[in-house]
Amino acid sequence: MFGECHGHVFMNGVNYKAAVARHKNGVDREAVRSLFLAYQKAGITFFREGGDYLGVSSFAAEIAEEYGIDYRSPVFAIHKKGHYGGIVGLAYENLTDFAGLVEDAGRKGADFIKIMLSGLLDFNAYGTITGPALAFSEIKELVRICHEEGFVVMVHVNGRETVYGAIVSGADSIEHGFYMTGEELSLLAERGTVWTPTVSPVGNLAGRGMFDEASVKAITESQLANVRKALALGVHVALGSDAGAVTVPHVTGLYDEYDWLLQAADGDRERLDRVLENTERIIKEKFRRR
Ligand SMILES: [Zn+2]
Repeated sequence: MFGECHGHVFMNGVNYKAAVARHKNGVDREAVRSLFLAYQKAGITFFREGGDYLGVSSFAAEIAEEYGIDYRSPVFAIHKKGHYGGIVGLAYENLTDFAGLVEDAGRKGADFIKIMLSGLLDFNAYGTITGPALAFSEIKELVRICHEEGFVVMVHVNGRETVYGAIVSGADSIEHGFYMTGEELSLLAERGTVWTPTVSPVGNLAGRGMFDEASVKAITESQLANVRKALALGVHVALGSDAGAVTVPHVTGLYDEYDWLLQAADGDRERLDRVLENTERIIKEKFRRR
């Protein structure tokens, strides 16, 4: 079975507030253990964490081996103060703060650094991203600092322009990456950058009446079309469901994501599996501290 290349151990796939409540007065260790047990039972032995601010992923890193799980973590994600990202990490105000947080993550055992570069998708409005994104010049500095400290970088990013800035800055893994154009997809292929399209957190919303259905469908289809192009271009597409996000349960979220990607691969399992296997190998090799 493939690994989960983008998940959040502290989230439960149903309700963010409840997930936070569960861990906010100290990590609910049993919850983490039962989660890893479920992954172990499913034969999922690799998990790349997207971060949290409650210390849940630090505990997860301590015990993952007991469940035969190769767990890689940024400990917490880092965002700019006033921008999106507080739900999974800590904020910086200037580059000195940022460098301090990178160091702190390193001390706490981070395998890589995760940075939030843009907001979330507005599921009610195709093409719209909530909140401001970081400027190209700032993205470049952030990535440079991480690389100089010996870390590879995973970035949460949506929107053509910001994704472009992230790839050109040398970010090692693009997470989500909604609304790319052919130019960004070609750049991904050229530079060998990993892309985790996380179709499930949007695709799984369909038919639930939670958001505008036409918009959900349009966003899902645009991402699937881009995955199809990316596969044709030889991009390192990763299987990561954003497990823990609303409508993306742990374990079965990964199966959902596989089905979405299979749709984009026109049902060609062999071809898809070859790509996913290769990307997972690259992630396992790169997403560890040098
Ligand atoms: Zn995530």
